Amino acid sequence: MLIVHKYGGTSVGDLERIGNVASRVAKAKEAGDDIVVVVSAMSGETNKLTEFAKHFSENPSKREMDMLLSSGERVTAALLAIALQEKGLPAIAMTGRQAGILTDDSHTYARIESIDPSAMKKEIDAGKIVIVSGFQGINSDGSVTTLGRGGSDLSAVAIAGALKADACEIYSDVDGIYTTDPRIEPKAKKMDFISYDEMLELASLGAKVLQNRSVELAKKLNVKIIAKSSFSDAEGTVIAEETEEMEAVLVSGIAVDRNQARVSLREVSDKPGIAAEIFSKLSEENVNVDMIIQNASTDGTTNLGFTVPSSEIKNARGVMESFDHDIGSMDFDDSVCKVSVVGVGMKSHTGVAATAFCALAKENINIEMISTSEIKVSLIVSEKYAELAVRTLHDAYNLDK
Ligand code: ASP
Ligand code: MG
Repeated sequence: MLIVHKYGGTSVGDLERIGNVASRVAKAKEAGDDIVVVVSAMSGETNKLTEFAKHFSENPSKREMDMLLSSGERVTAALLAIALQEKGLPAIAMTGRQAGILTDDSHTYARIESIDPSAMKKEIDAGKIVIVSGFQGINSDGSVTTLGRGGSDLSAVAIAGALKADACEIYSDVDGIYTTDPRIEPKAKKMDFISYDEMLELASLGAKVLQNRSVELAKKLNVKIIAKSSFSDAEGTVIAEETEEMEAVLVSGIAVDRNQARVSLREVSDKPGIAAEIFSKLSEENVNVDMIIQNASTDGTTNLGFTVPSSEIKNARGVMESFDHDIGSMDFDDSVCKVSVVGVGMKSHTGVAATAFCALAKENINIEMISTSEIKVSLIVSEKYAELAVRTLHDAYNLDK
């Protein structure tokens, strides 16, 4: 089998930890698999380099920032190769360019355009452990580019796709994806499996484990990800294509987003084009609208509500005030949160939403807005109930069992 291992910043945070990674990689290689390792910079290194640049400039050129930031990953790759060689194992460190990673021109936030895996393949065929510096590639004129913060995960998934690897194991200091945030609900359980779509909806639960863009890419390339801890031998969570087994589970996890604000508009003129005008203007002002609900109208007016990120509520208010001739009254509430119940099982089961409503009602938690998709029910509730709502829902779907 060919397995891609990816080690994040904390897993290679100091020399001892790089040594520990070398032992893990050696063990995997000795077990008979071909191993390609993708590494992050040592933790804190990318931030430190960014600060160095700030010493000279408030607005350093992005091309040079990429030259600078990409060095962190090269350091780790080379040290890991040296540590493995010292154990008597053949290893070779590569930059993104040497590994064949071609990107577009957007310095500091480049997209991978293609990977030519021939150089990596040649070394794998020669029996070597290939160690690739994550987070980087080159553009068409040969300048180094980086892939955006957390981008080593993206490198790993893209490389796994290009090499048609059997799995991409992403190592961090967390041993997998949990049914909810264990700091809110200590009874949260580590999941064995989760589908790509569920993982994308539960992004906040995976935030410390893997970058969301890399999950999207894994879905596109059908790369099986296994999220594991580099500090234990625990099993980890598999993130892969949906299976029937996954659909048998009603709900996979509960996520909460506190960074939400609610806008309520009452007595909005009920005429064609008003929603178009409101939401076009919001988008012109770069306000990201999430949930939208509109009621059936009575007496020529309607009520309209939507949510925006808390940080954009001021902007949203500015936009809404420019419409005051068409809106009876408006109300802005920053102290709300969005609790989401996610599971592919919802596609084939009924009553999932009703269970959530009943459970919250029993706790006297008022639901201010509701939106649903094929695999998700999201509820806006007062922020002061965030933790209670998460625990209540976690319990209602027996996620601790
Ligand atoms: N070193 C980069 C960062 O800190 C990339 C990564 O670790 O994934 O964002
Ligand atoms: Mg990371």
